[in-house]
Amino acid sequence: MTTELPGLKKLIRHLQKVPYLASKNIYRVANYFLMAKDNEIEELCSVILQAKKNIKSCEQCFNWTENSNLCEICNSNRRDKSIICVVQTWHDLLAIEKTNSYNGLYHILGGALSPLEGIGPEDLNIEQLLKRLRESENLNTVKEIIFATNPTPEGEATASFVCSRIEESKLEVKISKLASGVPIGSVLEFMDRVTIHKAMSERRPF
Ligand SMILES: [Zn+2]
Repeated sequence: MTTELPGLKKLIRHLQKVPYLASKNIYRVANYFLMAKDNEIEELCSVILQAKKNIKSCEQCFNWTENSNLCEICNSNRRDKSIICVVQTWHDLLAIEKTNSYNGLYHILGGALSPLEGIGPEDLNIEQLLKRLRESENLNTVKEIIFATNPTPEGEATASFVCSRIEESKLEVKISKLASGVPIGSVLEFMDRVTIHKAMSERRPF
C-alpha cells in the first residue's frame, strides 16, 4: 500500500496529531500537501511559524493578540468594561462576537473542569479571573459577570465552581448566566446566532 511509504507514514502520523482533523480527511490533506507546489508549502509553514511567534494570549482575558499585551477587545474604548463574559474557549468568544449582541469584555477559561480527563481548577484561568476582579474592585469597574460556559455537565460544573469562588471572595459583582434558550448538552460554538443572541439578552441571575 502507498501508505506504507515511510515518508508518507510519517506525514500521516504528524497530521493525526492535529486535533479536529477528522481521520477521513487526513489522507486528503496529505494528498493536498504532496500535490502542492514547494513554495506554497514553504509559505504555509512560514505563516504558521510567524503566527506562533507573533500571536500571544491577551494578558487580561486570554483572547489571542498580535504585537500587543492586550487584545483588541480589552484595548477598545468602545467596549463596556463593566461586564465580563466568561467562556470556555476562544471559539466560544468568536461565536458570541458574531451575534453582535454583546459589547462587554471576556475571560477565556481555557476549557472546563473534567475530573475524567484530569482537568482541575489549576488548569483553567480561574485564579486570573479572581485577580482581575479584585484589581477592578478598587476602581469599581466590573459590575457583572456573565457565565457563558457550555450547557454540558462539565460547563455547568465549571460555572458553579467559579461562581462559588467569586462568592467566597466576597467580591461585589452581579453574577448571571445565559438564558435557557441554550439547549442542554449543546456546545456554544455550534449554535446559531439567534439562539446565542436570545440567550445573552435574556440572561438571568446565576
Ligand atoms: Zn483581552
